[in-house]
Amino acid sequence: MSIQNRVFIAGAGPVGLVAAAKLVRAGVPVTVFEAGAELSTESRASTFHPPTLDMLEALGATQPLIAQGLVAPAFQYRTKKDGLVAQFDFNAIADATTHPYRVQAEQSKLTRILLDRLNGQSGFEIEFNSRVQAVAQDKSSVTLTIERNGATQSHSGRWLIGADGASSSVRRALGIEFDGFTWPDRLLVVSTPFDFHAVLPGLTSVNYVADAERWYFLLQIPGLWRVMFLIKEDISDEQIRTHEFAQSLMATIIPGLGNYEISHTTLYKVHQRVAKTFRLGRTFLAGDAAHINNPLGGMGMNGGIHDAINLTDRLADVWHGRAGDAELDRYDTQRRLVTLETIQTQTIQNKKNLESPEPFKQSLQQIKADPKRTYDYLLRVAMIATLRRAEELG
Ligand SMILES: Cc1cc2nc3c(=O)[nH]c(=O)nc-3n(C[C@H](O)[C@H](O)[C@H](O)COP(=O)(O)OP(=O)(O)OC[C@H]3O[C@@H](n4cnc5c(N)ncnc54)[C@H](O)[C@@H]3O)c2cc1C
Repeated sequence: MSIQNRVFIAGAGPVGLVAAAKLVRAGVPVTVFEAGAELSTESRASTFHPPTLDMLEALGATQPLIAQGLVAPAFQYRTKKDGLVAQFDFNAIADATTHPYRVQAEQSKLTRILLDRLNGQSGFEIEFNSRVQAVAQDKSSVTLTIERNGATQSHSGRWLIGADGASSSVRRALGIEFDGFTWPDRLLVVSTPFDFHAVLPGLTSVNYVADAERWYFLLQIPGLWRVMFLIKEDISDEQIRTHEFAQSLMATIIPGLGNYEISHTTLYKVHQRVAKTFRLGRTFLAGDAAHINNPLGGMGMNGGIHDAINLTDRLADVWHGRAGDAELDRYDTQRRLVTLETIQTQTIQNKKNLESPEPFKQSLQQIKADPKRTYDYLLRVAMIATLRRAEELG
């Protein structure tokens, strides 16, 4: 079988398509193999952080995303007992980003924007209904076994990026361990068109509400609010999935208000796991294939996009002979270590904070009282600190 002079990407999620867009732009031919018949419509990530917007700008995706989303220049912390405790404004870090705000838009908007731009570009190919089943590699190529409409076929290319999500076949095929744990709690996401601004004046589009018993967060996307509730382990999945259960949770948001219009509910398990390595030979893992964490702070997809940018910059240099193979090891060094050091630590801490309203309130008040601490805090929340730390890791 002949070897195609291309980079293969498994998965057309936000991470796979950002990697594809970056490589095609750098003159590297790419084939994306996507298991689904079309791009996913699942409602998952909905927050794009400032440095992610900076990166997507270079791919022509930020302005269309803003046009289809909501600009959120500030976010709030509340406690169930006290209401508003602290508001943070990204303007305070306007010197560190050209987008001092979050954009609230579903990840399915980004994937469509990217694919629209990629389609028709020379060097870009995408194969839907094409599930990567097995991976074999040697010194000069990677061979994929693809399952397509019940039949299997093989394709050989030069490099492979496994961006095929949390259950990554690429990661499994290469036997790379996915160390970490799964929380006993689950998350229920309830979406409603109800206008929370009408009843909570001054509410920002992103709000975290701490409570020892049942914290939640409220995120606005165009036309909807998404409320994510923590569900403890003693409640069965069947009970959680009832309309009455979702209504009973929604009734805790504003006393006296109930019977919400509910557009949909989704129940998620929450994991904290990081792959043992992000590179094995000619194959790389990126995004959820490489790491998963709880959604508090919106770091999963954003961190995955940061992986894709870090990796493809290096891969394009190696492809064009501007850098040697060792350059690619720096992807693993930088991205895996910052994932362990900062993203995992911070998302776990974010969960603990929401479960401990009193100490959390006090720490927020101390941060707010000190402009330097506020600045550093915002750099961490916006994931700029993570990117700076990755640079330090050499
Ligand atoms: C409720 C919830 C809320 C979240 N909110 C946020 C947030 O606000 N901000 C944030 O940053 N993150 C958030 N996340 C996390 C975010 O959704 C993920 O980190 C993100 O989807 C990862 O993107 P990805 O491209 O790596 O993987 P995915 O989005 O999972 O895409 C993987 C793609 O690979 C395809 N695929 C799978 N297996 C194969 C195979 N064998 N061969 C070929 N293709 C395959 C799939 O069909 C899919 O299209 C949230 C997650 C959840 C569950």
